[in-house]
Amino acid sequence: MSTFKAPKGTYDLLPPASRQHLAVREAIAAPLRTAGYGYIETPGFESVELFARGVGESTDIVTKEMYAFETKGGDRLALRPEGTASVLRAALEGGLHKAGNLPVKLWYSGSYYRYERPQKGRYRHFAQVGAEALGIEDPAVDAELIILADQAYRSLGLRTYRILLNSLGDQRCRPAYRATLQDFLRGLDLDEETRRRIDINPLRVLDDKRESVRRQLTGAPLIVDHLCDDCRAYHDQVRELLTAEGVAFEDDPRLVRGLDYYTRTTFEFVHDGLGSQSAVGGGGRYDGLSEMLGGPALPSVGWALGVDRTVLALEAEGVELPLPPTTSVYAIPLGEKARTTLFSLVTTLRKAGVAADFSYGGRGLKGAMKAANRSGAAYTVVAGERDLAEGVVQLKDMESGEQVPVPVAEAAEELERRLRG
Ligand code: AMP
Repeated sequence: MSTFKAPKGTYDLLPPASRQHLAVREAIAAPLRTAGYGYIETPGFESVELFARGVGESTDIVTKEMYAFETKGGDRLALRPEGTASVLRAALEGGLHKAGNLPVKLWYSGSYYRYERPQKGRYRHFAQVGAEALGIEDPAVDAELIILADQAYRSLGLRTYRILLNSLGDQRCRPAYRATLQDFLRGLDLDEETRRRIDINPLRVLDDKRESVRRQLTGAPLIVDHLCDDCRAYHDQVRELLTAEGVAFEDDPRLVRGLDYYTRTTFEFVHDGLGSQSAVGGGGRYDGLSEMLGGPALPSVGWALGVDRTVLALEAEGVELPLPPTTSVYAIPLGEKARTTLFSLVTTLRKAGVAADFSYGGRGLKGAMKAANRSGAAYTVVAGERDLAEGVVQLKDMESGEQVPVPVAEAAEELERRLRG
């Protein structure tokens, strides 16, 4: 061990566990690729102002959790705490919305940073895979995104997650509801900070997890009872589309993603095996965000799924991902001449797409066989001076233990044939 450790709230992804994370990222991305989402990558940092506007001045993320800093050149930047603001910024800057093909569908995968109090499932550096559909207001797009996330989780073998669904209304019905809610909240016994929140962002008070607050919230007016006809019809369509596709969800009239420009559909994926950090992913519609960033009206919807928590959810359910072995063939040369021959065989196999590895460092047979066992290889190829003099290598089936000589020139083909079969 060196004198250095991973910073507080972070952890390293090391093999073999790292394979799970990679497989989760792949599994989430796969349904998006088949649904026309294009890959987007944006910088790991952006101007602080983008997040202040794009995530919300009053949110914990912006006020408490951002890694903000000033560069030597005097720019105020922050490590990205989430993906949506950056993706929208990049799409507007690149003019993707002007190409005429709406919605612009994008997916991304990367690291995000929040200065949070670390605990299991809550880190200061974590990974998300996200998707955004920009520029169309159509319940089918909202439903599509929820279905794709559901498909991703199912393909991983997750079973005991729940989809919580709500509508936050729009600029027509929300203001009246907001005022009604504020009236109600002002009558409660709340601390200073929460009272301030009533003025800035009252919906977020509904999301307060403290028991003392929750108790008082029974009987709070709910947005579902205040939706305008358009929002109600929109929400009903999202629900019908999900139901028609057999995607089960729970109506959660208290689910908010508390930012003022979040509109209509909001949803969260929760897993009950994760304790307090139960949200594995979430998203919703943000029809006003583009204008907040100085862009044109671009009604959009998206989600982000947490890779770290999805891995924890798989562990909680005892799901073993069917990961292919990292090594299929392990080559063990005994002697200098065999080194050249088998090194060449390994290179040939790799070019043909066969996962092959090699015993380096001139290790003896016993140690090399141990390494071959540990590698999980289905076959080892051993060759000594005598084998090569006869023009063969020894091919050993690691499962049955059976060993046969195979002509050097045919070894690659024979291995490929056996591994395919
Ligand atoms: P949010 O933007 O907060 O809704 O985050 C979306 C998803 O990212 C969450 O559902 C989590 O799975 C994941 N996530 C958010 N914050 C963290 C964190 N500090 N540590 C690990 N995962 C996180």
